[in-house]
Amino acid sequence: MRACEKVVLFHTGGVVANSRHLCVALPSKRTFHPLSFACIEHPVHGHVLFDTGLGSRSAALVSSGPFRLLARIARAVYADHHQMRLQLESVEIEPATVEHVILSHLHFDHTGGMRDLPNATFHLTRAEWEGAHKLHGIKGLLKGFYLEDFRAANVRFVEFEDSVKVWPFQSGCDLFGDGSIILLPTRGHTVGHQSALVRLESGRQVLLAGDAALVRQNYTIPSDEGLVGRGLRWNHEEAWRTVLKLRAFWKSHPESDVIPTHDARVGRLLKRGPLTIR
Ligand SMILES: [Zn+2]
Repeated sequence: MRACEKVVLFHTGGVVANSRHLCVALPSKRTFHPLSFACIEHPVHGHVLFDTGLGSRSAALVSSGPFRLLARIARAVYADHHQMRLQLESVEIEPATVEHVILSHLHFDHTGGMRDLPNATFHLTRAEWEGAHKLHGIKGLLKGFYLEDFRAANVRFVEFEDSVKVWPFQSGCDLFGDGSIILLPTRGHTVGHQSALVRLESGRQVLLAGDAALVRQNYTIPSDEGLVGRGLRWNHEEAWRTVLKLRAFWKSHPESDVIPTHDARVGRLLKRGPLTIR
């Protein structure tokens, strides 16, 4: 069994949206929600990324085309220095040295930096890959998929096994076979969404949830997502089942951090700079 030294969270800009659009139980208030990604320090495999946030090209996409429709409910906050590549370089991580990237799913705010990682293998589910490729052109864009980001990517499909269990999840994938990072199926937001549980040397665990919940209140209250989540979602019932599993995990692992990509509390901390969890 191995453990990782730390997880560093970054944001690649964000959106200012009414919190109620991400969680219906929250008060109606315009709030900053980050588009975050994480870098896991693995003792053998080095910098392992969880998602890639926005890149320079995806930011241009956000301010044009069908995403301008989104501007009615969410205002994009983005500056050039927010892009994933420059965020990594700000802490002296060279993107070309990254060999492994876990993709929670293929929405554009998670795939934007993929083309800036020339030597990476991208670990995702086959269902997610095939699901995104079924939607062509404008249909894909309206569902949040920007195929140009991952057309040339070197992908490896994750296989969940019943023998790898983290309660209440009935299956999982031990990414490197050393117990350090366990991938968990969290479908619902998209057809093949996954999350990653990272074991740290300190004994703490971090569950990088991706968009299995948009903000922490989705599973702490629990309360469903509003317009933003429901509009992009693949399956409402599956998504809710996944939220209840996150809730069960969170309640039974008080020593663990559960980090949704767009959580407002994480966003407040990230405004000061990258956030390290040891
Ligand atoms: Zn998403």
